[in-house]
Amino acid sequence: MVTQPGSTSVLLLTQPSVVSKVMEPLPPSQSERQTLYTPADEFFENIVSLLRNMLGVESTTIIVTDGEQRWLKASTGLDPDEIYSDVKFYAGVPIYSVNDEIIGTISALDSCERDLPPSQIQALEDVARVVTDFYELRRLALSDGLTGLLTRRAFENEAERLTQLCSRHRHPLTLIYFDVDHFKSINDTYGHPAGDKVLKAVAETCRTYLRQSDVFGRLGGEEFAVLLPETDEKNAVMVAEKLRIAIGAMRFNFQDTTVAVTSSFGVATQSDRTYDLSTLLARADTAMYQAKQAGRNRCMVWGAGDRVETVVRRRVLKAGQVAFSGTHASIDCTVRSLGQAGAGLDLVTTMNVPDEFHLLIRSDKLRVACKVVSRTRTHLDVEFM
Ligand code: GH3
Ligand code: MG
Ligand code: MG
Repeated sequence: MVTQPGSTSVLLLTQPSVVSKVMEPLPPSQSERQTLYTPADEFFENIVSLLRNMLGVESTTIIVTDGEQRWLKASTGLDPDEIYSDVKFYAGVPIYSVNDEIIGTISALDSCERDLPPSQIQALEDVARVVTDFYELRRLALSDGLTGLLTRRAFENEAERLTQLCSRHRHPLTLIYFDVDHFKSINDTYGHPAGDKVLKAVAETCRTYLRQSDVFGRLGGEEFAVLLPETDEKNAVMVAEKLRIAIGAMRFNFQDTTVAVTSSFGVATQSDRTYDLSTLLARADTAMYQAKQAGRNRCMVWGAGDRVETVVRRRVLKAGQVAFSGTHASIDCTVRSLGQAGAGLDLVTTMNVPDEFHLLIRSDKLRVACKVVSRTRTHLDVEFM
């Protein structure tokens, strides 16, 4: 039986076959895919425990979703890995963000069939509202007034907890540190409010490329950091490159002048998967400083030796062709940057270009298979395959 009482959004399931079907999009058991845990959080732990006592069910959970992944914030009762294997009763209420988007679910589960009276459904909904309010209050308390990102202090707190969690489970964790290039000259030329607009736009743009589970903070004036769980160094470099290109593609209009900004990035991890936040910060900061010294608008990896070179590209101006495999079609392009691992290409339009193609540079006698890492209307950033 699936019940959606009155105007509420409680999903109540009591029939095993329906339960297993509807449970599918929730975190699968460990046998199928690893459950992603977030650091222990006293507030959520207390909430699930309170709810379990109120409803008298075997297990309660709070799950937060970022569209791609689901993260188990807190659970009580059954072992989290066992929760979804033998469920005969499930009742779930969505948790909303201030923008009315569903950001998670608070659920009650049992391995026995049972029912939930209206007063208990009401209690479940009330608790979900408390969680929503808590999220908003915490967001206001921890966020930087200009950009809405975590303040340095809040970043350090969140990052410290995540660092400990990833160390304990030996999960990948990488830090990206970045700083807007020549930012002082924006303030000096167009005024402080123009500088503020740039900082706000940088934060908003980068946010769209990051996961809900990434910890993103403004650590100082025009300095930012992102701690990425479940992300190794290679993937973090790809994220950093996406951010770098997205920031460089932004255009501002100040005093009738079109203005663009760039940023320099440092990426760092610890290979033994035991992490220390201050070490990660120091390493990423060092790599970022090297990126500044090497000419800015680039990404450097801490301690990567030769591999740093694969990220760095020379600025070039070469004629090239984008050839689609399987057809004889090709489009002219201008190669703007070129390295051992990738290139930046300008085209009249990138609209019909597939995600994978061959790049031909006749002057270099180069033909290489490419994968698009990011695209704007007229620019492609590609990785060589
Ligand atoms: P580099 O490429 O070496 O990073 O040069 P830079 O000019 O970006 O670095 P510098 O540290 O010399 O200047 C940073 C400037 O950022 C100085 C400071 O006045 C400005 N700043 C710090 N916080 C804010 C802010 O909240 N708003 C604005 N508009 N400016 C800020
Ligand atoms: Mg700076
Ligand atoms: Mg700067």
